[in-house]
Amino acid sequence: MKILIPREDELVERRVAITPDVVQKLKLLSFEVFFESGAGGEAGFFDGEYIQAGARNESEMDNFDILLSVDLNSHKKHFKKDLIAIGIMDPFNNSKLIDSLNSRSITSFALDFIPRTTRAQYMDVLSSQASLAGYRSVIEASHFSNSAFPLMMTTAGTIPAAKVLVVGAGVAGLQAIATAKRLGAVVSAFDVRTSVKEQVESLGAKFIEVESDEKTDGVYAKEMSEQYKLAQEAKLKSVISSQDIVITTAQIPGRPAPKIITQDMLKLMKHNAIIIDLASKSGGNCELTEHGNIVDFEGIRIISFENILNSIAYDASRMYAKNIAAFLELLHNRMQENNDILSIDDEIIKSTLITYEGRTVNTRLLEAL
Ligand code: NAD
Repeated sequence: MKILIPREDELVERRVAITPDVVQKLKLLSFEVFFESGAGGEAGFFDGEYIQAGARNESEMDNFDILLSVDLNSHKKHFKKDLIAIGIMDPFNNSKLIDSLNSRSITSFALDFIPRTTRAQYMDVLSSQASLAGYRSVIEASHFSNSAFPLMMTTAGTIPAAKVLVVGAGVAGLQAIATAKRLGAVVSAFDVRTSVKEQVESLGAKFIEVESDEKTDGVYAKEMSEQYKLAQEAKLKSVISSQDIVITTAQIPGRPAPKIITQDMLKLMKHNAIIIDLASKSGGNCELTEHGNIVDFEGIRIISFENILNSIAYDASRMYAKNIAAFLELLHNRMQENNDILSIDDEIIKSTLITYEGRTVNTRLLEAL
């Protein structure tokens, strides 16, 4: 079968789905690999590297069977009957994409629907990318901040360590905590899932506890009660005034991000504080967040990025490529046993399969609709 590595829409996406080091792995699985000119250029991988790894330019290709993408939404020009298309789809918010996949009978897989299980962790693009986003959020904060991170004792006086608050201690939040600690900040963190307290503390940060009987302890957070939100607001108000940097990462899968940092809280903050909102695409954790913009509120900058992974596209692509190749290997092996994809009895395949033979078949998506 023939694979196409497309060039992403460079206005929004600098990553590439397959990096040259992974081409060899795909060839060992007997795939022929083709790439669009410049596919990896924005991420720092050049056409010559793909050719050296055994891929060929798409000009040498008459047809292809599999499209391996980062953002599937920007590859409609490649959509054709009976294609297998794999990438990030944001299926809950992308009915037009799903319609266009169905209209061409495309078999599509959403990598953002990979289950969060131990078996699937090699394919888990949400985790690999969130981890890099968490790291990069701290680097961006240090870039925008006009203060130093570590405690410095100099002959001219002492610079206190920066205070960093991380809201949401999932994959991105934990990496943000670890990065801020490495830079020498005093870090505290908050999450509705009290089970993460131990992980936060093991990274050397302080876990902020909200006094409430309501507890969430699953893998994912849920929408909390009004009573809990009031207790959380009171607690955050008591700590936010001393923070130099706040990094917010709180998300609830399939729902808008919870609004946690209110305008009232902003009024309590230091005038040169920075907020980096990693949840901006799903609405943001701060009331004033504007996705992709920097908002100035009385000197406090609320910063969000259109796509923070563009600033670390080389490593993000390397991780993504390993994830997508691991998924393709699984699919390839299962298809050798059973060519009817819909009836393959595999949790990972079932969870990610979105459209098949002209209809939407994903149970999680159909339930949400
Ligand atoms: P996420 O991006 O959905 O959310 C980020 C964090 O925000 C979560 O920790 C969530 O509890 C928190 N949050 C939600 N609402 C909040 C609120 N109102 N206030 C404060 N915090 C709030 O989550 P994620 O990073 O994708 O990961 C979720 C969990 O899944 C993590 O515990 C992670 O370890 C686990 N996970 C497990 C596997 C695996 O088993 N292989 C793989 C990946 C992730």
